[in-house]
Amino acid sequence: NLSDKLDRAFKVLKGQGSITEINVAETMKEIRKALLDADVNYKTAKAFTDDVRQKAIGANVLTSISPGQLLTKLMNDELTELMGGTTADIELKAQPTIILIAGLNGAGKTTFTGKLANYLKTQRNKKPLLVADDIYRPAAIDQLQVLGQQIGVPVYANLESKDPVAIALEGIAQAKANGNNVVIIDTAGRLAIDEAMMVEIEKVKAATKPHEILFVVDSMTGQDAVNTAKVFNERLDFTGVVLTKLDGDTRGGAALSIKSVVNKPIKFIGTGEKMEALDVFHPDRMASRILGMGDVVSLVERAQQQFDEKEAAELQKKIRKNKFDFNDFYSQIQQIKKMGNMKDLMGMIPGVGKMMKDVEVSDDAFKGIEAIIQSMTPKEKENPEIINQSRRNRIAKGSGSKIEEVNRLMKQFDDMKKVMKQMSNPAAMASMMRRMP
Ligand code: GDP
Ligand code: MG
Repeated sequence: NLSDKLDRAFKVLKGQGSITEINVAETMKEIRKALLDADVNYKTAKAFTDDVRQKAIGANVLTSISPGQLLTKLMNDELTELMGGTTADIELKAQPTIILIAGLNGAGKTTFTGKLANYLKTQRNKKPLLVADDIYRPAAIDQLQVLGQQIGVPVYANLESKDPVAIALEGIAQAKANGNNVVIIDTAGRLAIDEAMMVEIEKVKAATKPHEILFVVDSMTGQDAVNTAKVFNERLDFTGVVLTKLDGDTRGGAALSIKSVVNKPIKFIGTGEKMEALDVFHPDRMASRILGMGDVVSLVERAQQQFDEKEAAELQKKIRKNKFDFNDFYSQIQQIKKMGNMKDLMGMIPGVGKMMKDVEVSDDAFKGIEAIIQSMTPKEKENPEIINQSRRNRIAKGSGSKIEEVNRLMKQFDDMKKVMKQMSNPAAMASMMRRMP
């Protein structure tokens, strides 16, 4: 998902001491790719990354936060802005306020209709009336009536009529007669966009002149959600979006994409099947969610992936047989580098950042070593003991290192092997431990 991709993009900045034009440009390229993959259109993605880039380069880098953290903050602010900046309220001044609910089948329209009525009644001191305008499925009318009973809100239905426009107008008339100051019209959906459905809801819109048209969309449908939003907006010019089913997986990306494609505010999010599971949309909270800050679960998953037990056992065996070679050494470096990424990611968890500050794992520290190992022949990598002085000279030249650097690596490697051998021998290990202060 998007937050994974962004995490990966931060890798580019990993271990860099400061934000420079080059590492920011590189990271922004990655982020732009991630946004495009998540269906954000090109213009929005470009404007977004250009803006973050400019701010990042101009930013005063405090020593206490890593470039990754600073960038996360900047991106958080920018994403918040992109999703509307502030919370968009619904229009409730008109008497009665007419709210039309639109969307595909199963998006969560009927559930949201109940939730919205419950919210308006309990939090906004309103007296709503619900209209069952989904005439195609008798079960849909039942469903709304059950919800109405549950939350103590009246429901207008007309089982005899097959005319959604007439039913909607009857509902509004009843609301006026009974002093209901909000009318919420729950409409019929289809499995996919279809012309008959669009024509029908356009007619209901024309007849009822709603103050709000809320487009309800299942956040789990990803790319489809964006396309559906686009079509509905072209036909209905809706006033706001409701993202449902955000209680499951983290799919915050849909919020960003929809906002950027239709440029209409997201007003509510559904976070469960219960009537209380409705939240007013807060762009800043969604931005944090998209960036995956504090997303501990995915961090743990990644840590587990990196811990390849089989590989560890293999290595153990080699050490015991004193067969640890430069191939193993090289793959160890790659492991340590991966841990470096982990460090940066963990640094984003609120509270953990400070703890990780003093642990310094930098890619650059390994660059020279990697170059030297890469300049060895396969035979040399497998049999480090054959690397004599003339081979060392050749390796130094091939890797663009000084001969002293090659000598130092060879010495480090020998020392490491000795320590490893000791550690793999329980008796030696015990004696070493006893010698420790
Ligand atoms: P409609 O066809 O658009 O009217 O969709 P419904 O309101 O009937 O909802 C379809 C299904 O999605 C039902 O099983 C709902 O309980 C479920 N649903 C609706 N909103 C949410 C939500 O925010 N979270 C979860 N987990 N389920 C939801
Ligand atoms: Mg329904």
